[in-house]
Amino acid sequence: MILLKNCFRVVRPRYGAGNAAGSASDDLSGVDILIDGKRIKKIAAGIQRPAGCVVIDASRHVVMPGLVNTHHHFYQTLTRNIPAVQDAKLFNWLVYLYDVWRHVDEEAVYWSSMLAMAELAKTGCTLTTDHHYLYPQGFKEDLPGLQFSAASQIGLRFAPTRGSMSRSKKDGGLPPDTVVQDEDTILAESEAALQKYHDKSPDAMRKLALAPCSPFSVSEKSMRDAADLARRYGARLHTHLAETIDEDKFCVEMYQRRPLKVMEDCGFTGPDVWYAHGIHFNDDELEVLARTGTGVAHCPSSNMRLGSGICRVREMLDKGIAVGLAVDGSASNDSSDMLGEARQALLLQRVRYGSAGITAREVLGLATEGGARILGYEQTGRMEEGALADLALFDVMQMEYAGALSDPAAALLFSGYNHGVDHLIVNGNIVVKDRRLTGADEEMIRQEANRCARRLLEKKGIKAGW
Ligand SMILES: [Zn+2]
Repeated sequence: MILLKNCFRVVRPRYGAGNAAGSASDDLSGVDILIDGKRIKKIAAGIQRPAGCVVIDASRHVVMPGLVNTHHHFYQTLTRNIPAVQDAKLFNWLVYLYDVWRHVDEEAVYWSSMLAMAELAKTGCTLTTDHHYLYPQGFKEDLPGLQFSAASQIGLRFAPTRGSMSRSKKDGGLPPDTVVQDEDTILAESEAALQKYHDKSPDAMRKLALAPCSPFSVSEKSMRDAADLARRYGARLHTHLAETIDEDKFCVEMYQRRPLKVMEDCGFTGPDVWYAHGIHFNDDELEVLARTGTGVAHCPSSNMRLGSGICRVREMLDKGIAVGLAVDGSASNDSSDMLGEARQALLLQRVRYGSAGITAREVLGLATEGGARILGYEQTGRMEEGALADLALFDVMQMEYAGALSDPAAALLFSGYNHGVDHLIVNGNIVVKDRRLTGADEEMIRQEANRCARRLLEKKGIKAGW
């Protein structure tokens, strides 16, 4: 049992537009939170400490549901900030990096997963997905297994995807032949991974979705196969969609249809589907998302970094479209700073829609409950008795928040520059304590990730510089 004592502020964000997302008046001050096993048992003032209970003094903290990351490519943490593509747009950036990524091997997958999840945990994320679509030839080990073992080590709730690419250059796609698999292999390996790892229970620590990479790297048959297979196993579906104008052009030339129409024709829409980015949907396509219940992972930093555009989140919220927040792969962010991403979402919508474009509560709602729904979880992302105990504690008694405590929850987005949690609890376990991971050695992660990154770059003939 864990007792969070005397919480400075408890925040209860809800996914929705306007008042539905809640307000500062929903916050609680000075209450305690009792965690019993994996769930929040009680939220009230003056809870007596049960015998043997661990007590955490929360009198300096905003306590909120853990943030949920709905799109990432962990392996890209090893290829972030490469000078040759610092200023490239998506397609050029991809073509350059495919040639580095084809050298990704087992230990690169493991240590990049450790690094990404360590960063996510330390910035408030309790539940994350990953989109691993790269299966270079010669890869021997069970790739999802490597990632799940890293998630267990860090302590995060983990709902990754088994990604894939089947359309290489010779078929008119973007990736080289060396990083794609044939359609039958993808199907067989995806089914084996679902059988081994997908847990449908509402409090699962492990779920698996299927995620053909994008319309420009996957055949229509692979998209259809993935949709059929995922639904047989009650698993979700994910892909990149409507990220760039180049993608629109590619789809019109290759398929004579816009990207969303290709997805509709493949059965790749519905409440069990979410797309990464979703920037370039037109008005009619927003209606399709709303009607079918298809979700969007909003990736503001990546979209700004690659100059891809601004997702129409304001209009999506108003139409009741499911939206979650995501850091995207660390080669296009180039960070896994989850709280920092929430700030970016707040600011970027205001560039498009003006100062009332989105409120802090709306951002907190989509970054918690919104993301949890998209990943198929009903019992996390919420601050209420009976919910899973996935909680982030941010210390707002630091200098960076001085003068900003009229609304402490919003201060996390409007103010601050050090986005680290003091404590993070996942499934009732303390994953970060006093700003340090409890289950992994941070110095070892740094060293091993740097070593793997250097090796990848040198194989491409890039001088690493460290
Ligand atoms: Zn992505």
